[in-house]
Amino acid sequence: MSARAAGMGLSEELSTIVGPEYVVKEEAGLEDYRKDMADYEAMPSVAVLPSTEEEISRILKVAARRKVPVVARGAGTSLTGAVVLEGAIIIDMKRFNRILAVDSVNWHVRVQAGVVLDDLNEALHKDGFFFPPDPASSFICTVGGAIAEGSGGMRCVRYGTMRDWVLALRVVLANGRTSSFGEPLAKNRVGYDLVHLMIGSEGTLGIVTEAYLKILPLPSVPLVRMLVTFDDWPSAGRAIQELRQRRIRANLMEFMDLETILAVNAAFQTDFEEVEATLLVDLEEPLVTPAESIFRDHGARTFTRATNEEEAERFYSVRSHAYLAIKGLASGVQIEDVTIPIDRLAEYLALIKEVGTRLRLRIPTLGHAGDGNVHPAILFDREDPASRAAATTAFEELCRYAIRVGGTVTGEHGVGVQKAALMREQMRAHGGEEALRLMKGIKRMFDPKGVLNPGKYVELA
Ligand SMILES: Cc1cc2nc3c(=O)[nH]c(=O)nc-3n(C[C@H](O)[C@H](O)[C@H](O)COP(=O)(O)OP(=O)(O)OC[C@H]3O[C@@H](n4cnc5c(N)ncnc54)[C@H](O)[C@@H]3O)c2cc1C
Repeated sequence: MSARAAGMGLSEELSTIVGPEYVVKEEAGLEDYRKDMADYEAMPSVAVLPSTEEEISRILKVAARRKVPVVARGAGTSLTGAVVLEGAIIIDMKRFNRILAVDSVNWHVRVQAGVVLDDLNEALHKDGFFFPPDPASSFICTVGGAIAEGSGGMRCVRYGTMRDWVLALRVVLANGRTSSFGEPLAKNRVGYDLVHLMIGSEGTLGIVTEAYLKILPLPSVPLVRMLVTFDDWPSAGRAIQELRQRRIRANLMEFMDLETILAVNAAFQTDFEEVEATLLVDLEEPLVTPAESIFRDHGARTFTRATNEEEAERFYSVRSHAYLAIKGLASGVQIEDVTIPIDRLAEYLALIKEVGTRLRLRIPTLGHAGDGNVHPAILFDREDPASRAAATTAFEELCRYAIRVGGTVTGEHGVGVQKAALMREQMRAHGGEEALRLMKGIKRMFDPKGVLNPGKYVELA
């Protein structure tokens, strides 16, 4: 007798697949799944914690039969509403938490999707390797979430984003079938590149259970980590532009403005110098002297080198936790991640300041300045409609500037529901209307019944 014929409810039927202890149906438990880290919210109907592909496959079949949407969840650190959906079945990937094999000849790691990125790196360090992409949320975010978001991060200025580091995937499709995509090889030319289609697909095309990721030996040249401060943003921006022009490649080039530093010092009881612009920089030892001279030419005030591992880690950790400090400053934060051509950096930083002053908004700004990916965090008062409207105006102005100068409305956080309309604007403005039509077709082909994270991203654009 089928579950429906037997009169079983959704959570009862899911319990028969994963066991009742791995089904969350009470409102209090579901609270953990209601929000993402930018406070987009929607109440799911149930959460399940499977531990095998077979279980995910059966859950997807139940979802399709009952016409209930499904959202895969890693750590829920998404900032665009991608990981929350009203009435959905949440597939929490926590139990896919094993590092399956580190291959020190082929330089890859086989890992399950729920592994936290920092845990992965901790394990790899023991074998003298590392996995370069490091979203600032790497202390909690998962391999699967980072793949589905095509995440970037701090070391991306040197090593690129998730897009550059995934060789092969195991994926459960909307119809419940399971497939391998790609091969764990340095080269593979068989067929269309479905691996890269999955990267940045935001849970709309399939559920990633396992990945082969490229790894690298830990750097052999010593790196110097330092903080460099400036009296104004455009000077910092111009210094970065000149470093690139002079072919000096940084391993880290992060940016924090005064408001960010004030928030960090208050939240974490640190004593970073409170100046208008701070860069967190990693450079290979031989590049330090020429880089310092360029920074000085552009008015750098101070240079503080980390004197030991602990201090280097403290500098890094403050930058990676900065958004959490900023989030406490107001009842609402619209966190932004446009990426502009790097030669527009100084101009863009000046624009953020101008928009904030004109619209009377506080916009603490931080980000991956070295690759043109800046995060203005637009603060607003959730209870005040005028403040909300001003924040939306600022958000749209900054995105439209990016579109105008050949940038993108999202460099790494993705689209979710936050940027679907702006994604459409960008694709139209840059001659990508046919590409958008194809994307909508791809979604329909992968998921004809609209089970996987429906009504967002490409579908909404
Ligand atoms: C403090 C902070 C700093 C951040 N810094 C950065 C940064 O530097 N760079 C950056 O790019 N992002 C950053 N982010 C955004 C976010 O953390 C990243 O996108 C992260 O990789 C998401 O991982 P997650 O495990 O939390 O995914 P979730 O938020 O759980 O999910 C994100 C999306 O992926 C889908 N998904 C999750 N797991 C799977 C799976 N196994 N299969 C298929 N789909 C799946 C979800 O359905 C959802 O659409 C930051 C966020 C915070 C809160």
